[in-house]
Amino acid sequence: GPAYLGMELGVGETVLMKAVAQATGRQLDKIKAEAQEKGDLGLVAESSRSNQPHDVSSRPSLTAGGRAMNKKIDIIKGLFVACRFSEARYIVRSLAGKLRIGLAEQSVLSALSQAVCLSPPGQGFPPAVLDAGMGKSAESRRSWIEEKSLILKQTYCEMPNYDVLIPVLLKEGIDELPNHCKLTPGVPLRPMLAHPTKGVGEVMKRFDEAAFTCEYKYDGERAQIHILESGEVRVFSRNQEDNTSKYPDIVSRVPTVTKDSVTSCVLDAEAVAWDREKKQIQPFQVLTTRKRKDVEASEITVQVCVYAFDLLYLNGESLVRQPLCRRRALLKESFSEVEGEFVFARSIDSNNTDAIAEFLEQSVRDSCEGLMVKTLEKDATYEIAKRSHNWLKLKKDYLDGVGDTVDLCVIGAYLGKGKRAGAYGGFLLACYDDDNEEFQSVCKIGTGFKDEDLEQHYKFLKEHILPKPRAYYRIDPGAEPDVWLDAVQVWEVKCADLSLSPVYKAAMGMVDPEKGISLRFPRFLRIRDDKKPEDATTGAQVGRLAFKKNVGVDSCSERSHLTAR
Ligand code: ATP
Repeated sequence: GPAYLGMELGVGETVLMKAVAQATGRQLDKIKAEAQEKGDLGLVAESSRSNQPHDVSSRPSLTAGGRAMNKKIDIIKGLFVACRFSEARYIVRSLAGKLRIGLAEQSVLSALSQAVCLSPPGQGFPPAVLDAGMGKSAESRRSWIEEKSLILKQTYCEMPNYDVLIPVLLKEGIDELPNHCKLTPGVPLRPMLAHPTKGVGEVMKRFDEAAFTCEYKYDGERAQIHILESGEVRVFSRNQEDNTSKYPDIVSRVPTVTKDSVTSCVLDAEAVAWDREKKQIQPFQVLTTRKRKDVEASEITVQVCVYAFDLLYLNGESLVRQPLCRRRALLKESFSEVEGEFVFARSIDSNNTDAIAEFLEQSVRDSCEGLMVKTLEKDATYEIAKRSHNWLKLKKDYLDGVGDTVDLCVIGAYLGKGKRAGAYGGFLLACYDDDNEEFQSVCKIGTGFKDEDLEQHYKFLKEHILPKPRAYYRIDPGAEPDVWLDAVQVWEVKCADLSLSPVYKAAMGMVDPEKGISLRFPRFLRIRDDKKPEDATTGAQVGRLAFKKNVGVDSCSERSHLTAR
């Protein structure tokens, strides 16, 4: 199913091991031990198969085993029995969610559009046209396919569901796709992302003559609120997860703030913890104490206020290709504000540097993180799933530190000493390299943790210990942590500086051919539950931060200086 349905196979390592054991007649203990040693159950499955002749008695028996787990084991066993050569390795890895063959979503979309371009749909069998690009020059063939693939990529952003797209591609062809698959309330779209900037000066330089607005950057959780034709309200997270049951209070207040003219819509907003007595915004940390699922309205202790900042769909029409000034006008026409419940993001439309600087200060006094600066008219469409320059983020923190905070994955831990004995005292962090699908070590972290944080991390992370690092961890063999951890959690981290490092592997080859980049003086800020490990800051982003700080340049001049001496 599509990612937004949040369907999980729910096939754990144990189930897989049992299936391998049963399909090959080997003992479970042996399989376990070998998997520990090799660090990859896929390899174990492959070699077990070649040791074992085809075992007909282990054919799947779908009706046997009433329990779901037995059923799963049976189905997987059936797959193994039919495997040849290295197939077992890849079946196991893909069932475990660890296939990692470097095939990212964009490549799948490109391949799909190439297929439907070259052999157009709607043909009988055998198809008359297998290569519709024949006769074109290599160059025009490529640009033709690229142009078509853009249609698919854009449509996919608005309707991220292959089950819907592929039947239309096959029946109607790629040109017709946007007419059949559209943004639909109830189907979450990926959020527009912002580009970090370091100060008002940089904002002015980037936007130059363009009309723009500055909005408060509220520190809460992104909430994409959908009102379906049926009147049903759904709330989705930054990650397209369904948060509806987390926010019954938002769901129940939406009808009261929605004007009668609205029959369906998609709102972009931030849900922020709100103190009703003091009538003020509460820190993000307060919001994280709220229960995540199946919340009963009566048991809510942490109240939230919704700050709406965009309208992406209204009454059957997608607005994502409209400029922000139009979307904002429609937003304000379609909803009314209720203090402490539903409010439009505070904003000023000014290009006066002093006024913006003052507004930035004010936003921080009002418990916000800083400002979001957005183009209003030109280049002001809603860019789905892109880190566009049409939205700039200006956080108070950036003004001194390295710039943006980074979101890193925990891949190892160091046992605590002294006061921290009995828990982990430090951690190894990694960024994610999306080109090579690997986690690259970037620093060790030991500060910023409250005692409760350390306790919580220990409890959670000890369940994710690995006997050895994953094959897709890029690490230095000389800098091993006490325990390796599965990359399952993302932390937001602030650092004071960056440096070239012979030990850490982030962005290796980008700034220096042999050295990576490491963060200096990193400090833990918070867990980022709304980011998956693959959403962590990328190696390329770390490289760009280093580049901006002239990290490589320093070292070059240092080197030439040394050589001169
Ligand atoms: P990114 O989403 O850019 O990867 P991030 O998740 O760490 O980074 P931030 O750097 O905090 O997010 O900035 C973007 C987030 O700020 C948005 O996803 C949204 O949740 C929040 N936000 C708060 N106020 C606004 C606003 N007025 N306009 C847009 N986003 C806002």
